[in-house]
This record gives sequence, structure tokens and C-alpha cells, in this order.
Amino acid sequence: MSEPGHLTGEVRPAKYQPPLPVDEMILREQPDEEAVPMDVIFVGGGPAGLAGAIELARLVAKDNEEGGGIGDVEIGVLEKAGQLGEHSLSGAVVNPIAMRELFPELDMSEFPFRGPVKDEAVYFLTENRSVRIPTPPTMKNHGNHMASLCEVVRWLGDKAEGLGVNVFPGFAVGGLLVEGEGSQVIGVRTTASGLDREGQPGGGDYMPPMDLTAQVTVLAEGTRGPLTQAFLQWQGIGSENPQIYALGVKELWETKKPLDRVIHTMGWPLPGDAFGGSFMYPLEGDLIALGLVVGLDYHDARFDVHDVLQRMKLHPLFRPYLEGGEMVEWGAKTIPEGGYFSVPSQRHGAGVCVVGDSAGFVDVPSLKGIHYAMHSGILAARTIFKALKDGDVSEKGLRSYTDAVDASYIMKDLRKTRNIRLAFKKGFVGGSIRAGLMTVSKGALLGGRMQVPEDVGEARVLGESGPSVVPDGKLTFSKVDAVYKSGNQTRDDLPNHLLVGHDVSPEAAEMYVHMCPAGVYERDGSELRVNAPNCVDCKATDVLGPRWTAREGGSGPAYQRM
Ligand SMILES: Cc1cc2nc3c(=O)[nH]c(=O)nc-3n(C[C@H](O)[C@H](O)[C@H](O)COP(=O)(O)OP(=O)(O)OC[C@H]3O[C@@H](n4cnc5c(N)ncnc54)[C@H](O)[C@@H]3O)c2cc1C
Ligand code: SF4
Repeated sequence: MSEPGHLTGEVRPAKYQPPLPVDEMILREQPDEEAVPMDVIFVGGGPAGLAGAIELARLVAKDNEEGGGIGDVEIGVLEKAGQLGEHSLSGAVVNPIAMRELFPELDMSEFPFRGPVKDEAVYFLTENRSVRIPTPPTMKNHGNHMASLCEVVRWLGDKAEGLGVNVFPGFAVGGLLVEGEGSQVIGVRTTASGLDREGQPGGGDYMPPMDLTAQVTVLAEGTRGPLTQAFLQWQGIGSENPQIYALGVKELWETKKPLDRVIHTMGWPLPGDAFGGSFMYPLEGDLIALGLVVGLDYHDARFDVHDVLQRMKLHPLFRPYLEGGEMVEWGAKTIPEGGYFSVPSQRHGAGVCVVGDSAGFVDVPSLKGIHYAMHSGILAARTIFKALKDGDVSEKGLRSYTDAVDASYIMKDLRKTRNIRLAFKKGFVGGSIRAGLMTVSKGALLGGRMQVPEDVGEARVLGESGPSVVPDGKLTFSKVDAVYKSGNQTRDDLPNHLLVGHDVSPEAAEMYVHMCPAGVYERDGSELRVNAPNCVDCKATDVLGPRWTAREGGSGPAYQRM
């Protein structure tokens, strides 16, 4: 490996990013003769997809009980993780509003939460000090609950199955089936399993791609979903601003010292031109969730979120909790950060609805997306139920989903904070002042749209990101150790699912090495090596570099309590 310090200069990530392979995802082929017939398919068993499936199953059951005549409606949830929850990662502090809406008959104590938020604190960090600052109104968590998203998802999966939903873990969707030359989506095609490195049967138990037909397909694939991108591009559906992203890297610790409050930090170890912050949440007893979230518009091409999180743990605010404890899980995932102006102008098409993170329903100042994901799934289910009853799953028949989201608390909340993230594009200090004005005025001050470029369109500079931490295996960890703690046991001889651009320059390769938290990319002089099995599906690569595509179901991480 060449000495990284030898490379200097500018990197333009857009120059090396291959185009999205839309033609391979929008499939104008007749479904296979043995296609599995479903009525409604949810692509993704996260909070959005499962909440939608539960609401729809309930509406169908109620209609049949009341003699409404809708009859049997086959609902399927396809999830690429080997088991539900194994690809779920969040903070998480959850606003319980959508859980209450979905299960009004249950008491709060019956939800899969780990307890209410009792106290919270926000700190501004310098390298050795922490100064407590007043909690901004957008970051207050009174009434919210601590949770592991894996646990929430497993619980929702059980509820869905109890209502007759067909939950298929281990099935990754690779494409949307489309009717003839029209725009009606009529189902999905899964990826093949058991391929060898050359893409031929022989790498394991071979299973060809499987078609499932559906009257409505709900894209609930989470952050930076390729199917959603392909659908929006194919249908020419845009948004006022492009979607922008952050990368979150998270560790779960069993500690000797319990944490009694929710903690958020700003400032160190991030440079002034990067947007982000850390969280440390008490999950119950001796379990602590610790993470760092950083906008992917950082300027230094050598910025490395995993490495910076390792450095952060040495700070006197975190170290006393972690020392002597054990890091039990590690993971990473991107977050759509663009907010209000980056939500697609319509979230439906003929035979399709887009829900949750796939549609960008995340409020960045409060770091909340779970209740928006669930609520959007519920709203989609209500529209789909009516469309099935009316026998109209055309674009017109599903229009009321987009309208319902527009009228919901999802868009109202995102509107209030519409420019807060964007205000930080010009640096931390000015951004803080602008964000403060926006917060007190509930978005009225400086409320006109701030324009932002796509993350991939922003040039980076190969700087010196400060000394890398030499991992000690106790408090700090290498990327190899980290991937091991994600539970990733992907076959080594799987075909490469990452589409790398042509003639990637050593400078761009150097950026990929630092960008990927799982150590998938290695630079050897001018050569880029890709250790694809290490990938934990965080999708950062799809934002700034090689494209991510869905691989064999059951590959990737196996998170348990993230
Ligand atoms: C570090 C971090 C901290 C966060 N903290 C909080 C917090 O404290 N509170 C909060 O409310 N929100 C938080 N969020 C945001 C929140 O986690 C998301 O908004 C939420 O998970 C979105 O739900 P979803 O169902 O849309 O997507 P996801 O939870 O991502 O679920 C999507 C599912 O689809 C599956 N999938 C994807 N593609 C395919 C495919 N092709 N075929 C089959 N399955 C597929 C995935 O494996 C996944 O299981 C945080 C996010 C991160 C990354
Ligand atoms: S290669 Fe995988 S783990 Fe690495 S950045 Fe890309 S999606 Fe994330």
C-alpha cells in the first residue's frame, strides 16, 4: 500500500460514480409463469414496511368481519436480512405516537421499548473538555422512549404474522416488474442466491430469481434505496432539492458504569466544516448505545467516520463509561438528511407507494425517523385498502397517499425545520446562529428554500484528517474488528454487488478507503481492491462512489440489538 500522505489535491466524486443501472431494475418482462401471486408487497421489513402491512391486514380483516366484501388479500413483506431486524440500525429514542396509532388497544408498557427517557443533556465538546449547553427545543425528548430498532422490528414482525401477513426474510428484491410499455408496476423480482464469484450457479445452494406479482408494491427499502431511485428517475419525479445524506456509525456497549440520561454532543472531534454530532443513549441496565452521525458533504476526502468515532471514545466525557466495558455490537447506516425540500414531489405511482426513509421522512435536528416511517406506512396502507376496494390501483387511485402525507404531521414537522440542516452548509458557527433563529421562529425566519447540491457533486480535498487511532481492541477497534462485531458472515465467493466506476483515480480510491466504515475498499498504489463481502449495506458508497446493488438474500450484517 502506498503512503496515503503522498496523495494531495482535489477529488470530484461525481466523475467516478457509475450511473444508476435503471434498466436492470425496471423490468419490462412478463412475470415468470411460476410467479407467486400476492396482492400487496412491501419491499423491506423495517418499521415503515411492517407498520404498513399490519395496518392493511387489520383494515382487510375488519372489512371482512363487517361484510364489506374485500375478500382475501395476500400481503407479503420481503426483507433482505436473514432474519427480521438483522439489518435494522437506529439510535434509538422513539416518539411513540405511531406505535399508539397502530396499537391503540395496547398499554405503553406492552410496547417493545426499553423505558422512557428520564433525563437528557447536550454538550459542546473541545478536545479535552465538555461544556453543557441548554437543550435546543428541537432536541428535547420528554415523552419519548429508548429502544433497539432490531427489537422493535422483530416485535412488529410477530404482530404482522399474527395477522396473516406473509413475512419472507432472506429475500432481497433486485427489480420492479412493469407492465408492457406502460408505467404500471405489477410486482417484483428477487435476486438469485447461490451464485459464485463469476455470477454462475455454484457458490452455494442455487436459487434463481423469483417473481412475485402484486397489485401494489410499497417501496419501504429504507435509506438510499436503489429501487426507489430507479422508480423516481424512470418516472421523472423530482424534488426541490436533491436528497443529501449522513453516515451514522454506532457501537453497543455493555458497561460497568450505568448511564442515566440521553446525551448528544456537538463540536469536537468534527472539523468546523463538517455537520454532525454524537449520541450516547442508555438502553437499560448496563447497555449503552453510542454513535456518531456526520453529513456526507464533509470536505476532507480523508475524513473517516469510523476512525473519528474511535478517537471520540477517548474523550473524558465518554471514556469513563466505556473503560472496563465491552463493545458487543457495531454497525453503520446512512440517514437521508435533506428534509422537507428533498422529499419527492409525489410518493406514489401506478401500482407503487414510497414510504419511510426511502421517501426521506427524517427530521434531522431531532434525529427522528422511526415514527415518520411507521406513520407513512400506515397512510399508504389506508390508501391501498381503498384502492383495492375501488378496483383502481392506477396512479390516480393511489394519489391520496401523497395527499395524506402532505396533510400529516410528517410534512408539518419537516416544514418547521426545513432549513436547519441546510444552514450548516456554510460552517458550524454561522450555521448554529442561523439554526437558532429558525428554531425560535418555528421555521418562519430564513424560511425560503436554501439550495444544496447533491453530495456526490461536491468536490473534496485530500487533507490531513489528523492522526488515525491505533486500535487497542478494548476501547478502540479496527474496521476488521468492527465488521466482525456486526455479525456479518457473508460468503466470500459471492459476486461483487458494488458497481465500481471506470478508471477510478488513486485520489478517489483513497477517499473510498476512508469513507467506507467497513473497510471494503483498499488502495494499493493506483489499484482499488474491493472486499465486497465485508459490506454492511450502509449505502454510503452509493451516495459518493461505487453503486450498491441488492445481493443474495441473507447476506450482510446480523444485528441483534442495534
Ligand atoms: C445512526 C442512526 C441513528 C438514528 N437514531 C434515530 C432515533 O434515535 N430515533 C428515530 O426515530 N430515528 C432514528 N434514526 C432514523 C431511523 O432509524 C430511520 O428513519 C428508520 O429506521 C426508517 O425506517 P424504514 O422502515 O423507512 O427503513 P429501515 O429501518 O432502514 O428498514 C428498511 C428495511 O428494508 C430492507 N431492504 C432494503 N432494501 C431491500 C431490498 N432490495 N429487498 C428486501 N429488503 C430490503 C432493509 O434490510 C431494512 O430492513 C437513526 C438512524 C441512524 C442511521
Ligand atoms: S461498501 Fe458497503 S459498508 Fe462500505 S460504504 Fe458502501 S454500503 Fe457501506
